[in-house]
Amino acid sequence: MTPEEFRAHGYAVIDWIADYQARVASFPVLSQVKPGEIRAGLPDAAPEAGEPFERLLADLDEKILPGITHWQSPHFYAYFPANASGPAILGDLLSSGLGVQGMLWATSPACTELETLVMDWLVELLGLPAAFLSTNAGGGVIQDTASSAVLSAMLAGREQATGFATNERGCDGKLTVYTSRHAHSSIEKAAKIAGIGRAQVRLIEVDGTFAMRPDVLEAQIAEDRAAGFTPCFVAASVGTTSSTAIDPVPAIGAICRREGIWFHVDAAMAGTAALCPEFRWIHVGLELADSYCFNPHKWMLTNFDCSAFFVRDRSALIDTFSILPEYLRNQASATGQVIDYRDWHIQLGRRFRALKLWFVLRYYGTEGLRAYVRGHVDAARAFAGWVEADDAFELAAPAPLNLVCFRLKGGDTLNQRLLEALNASGKIYLTHTRLDRKYTLRLCVGQTHTTIDHVETAWRLIRETAGGL
Ligand code: PLP
Repeated sequence: MTPEEFRAHGYAVIDWIADYQARVASFPVLSQVKPGEIRAGLPDAAPEAGEPFERLLADLDEKILPGITHWQSPHFYAYFPANASGPAILGDLLSSGLGVQGMLWATSPACTELETLVMDWLVELLGLPAAFLSTNAGGGVIQDTASSAVLSAMLAGREQATGFATNERGCDGKLTVYTSRHAHSSIEKAAKIAGIGRAQVRLIEVDGTFAMRPDVLEAQIAEDRAAGFTPCFVAASVGTTSSTAIDPVPAIGAICRREGIWFHVDAAMAGTAALCPEFRWIHVGLELADSYCFNPHKWMLTNFDCSAFFVRDRSALIDTFSILPEYLRNQASATGQVIDYRDWHIQLGRRFRALKLWFVLRYYGTEGLRAYVRGHVDAARAFAGWVEADDAFELAAPAPLNLVCFRLKGGDTLNQRLLEALNASGKIYLTHTRLDRKYTLRLCVGQTHTTIDHVETAWRLIRETAGGL
């Protein structure tokens, strides 16, 4: 493809995306295809001869679009948001166009230095502890996902607890990690990958708000130490996936400090709320954390993937990951004056993700980002109020931010039928969880163009559908 051909097809692709944005609200939110249907509509083998670009775009419309669940629809309330925006998409496109590998400072200095800068900006914008600044002993790095971030943190915690010996000799089967029963599954998954073992993950009981009980954590750590285990990692959630439960970070952090255990805070979705000073309470106690992560790719208008991971002491992370083969040696790294992000995570190669984040932060400005977070929280609160005021429904958990957990009074089967009917309508998309063992519906407000009017329409549909069951 020559630059001129690229220009012509590129215009067509941008038109396609702009048209998609304009019509996304009209598609069934949840793809209605059956398993295997998309593949069955496509050839079994790759083409021998190249095809015209126009045909690829036509197939996107005809063959692929029916199999898309529209995460960018304003009627998408499922799981968690994965919102996007014009500046982010364009920044991502430019990153693809530049096609740089940012593994070392030397392989593209701007890729590293812009990333360090925007991560420092985020520390200020969210009011995070100054220890996370690169100008202090810490720093931030963009990871692909919160799952990779927690794995990186757990590995650093593992090494810290074993004097960096596990890296050399492997696990002794005696390490333990701790998180709440309601924490994200990525923490258990990290324990599997880190060689610690899922059996060594202690899922700590929660209180009535689904937040971790620090007294139970402390007792479990003591019991494990007495039994000869080495506790190496604790993860608290600031906003669980199920219900936005917020663990008591100050109390958990104090235990970790006393015990010398690596303390990670996972604020994957909820962290974005701290852009607004009135929601910064979610991060109380964060100065006790060794590491912290939130996902701009969830609720901060930055399309997937972009996970912001911060550490208090970057040397702990770098000492865990650093390995230097001859072919990566270079003068800039040898001076010790540059950051080589390859030592901050698992993979070597890395995309120029900072570009899209930089575009988002500059295009909207802090004021713009705050306004849109507030709009979502206000809409979720209004929804919670409507649920509470309706005798047929009940709230299932506190709704501190943009997620509302609720039930139709009448048991699991009824709620399951309600969810299925709503999703089959294609008009909205919700998912469920279990709270207190009860089937619970979740409505998470976070798509870029979702307004209180959309949420009101969703509430009307939920009531009408419930009435017809
Ligand atoms: N932590 C929490 C609280 C989450 O809600 C999620 C996603 O649902 C994750 C971690 C995992 O996020 P990622 O897909 O970035 O690994």
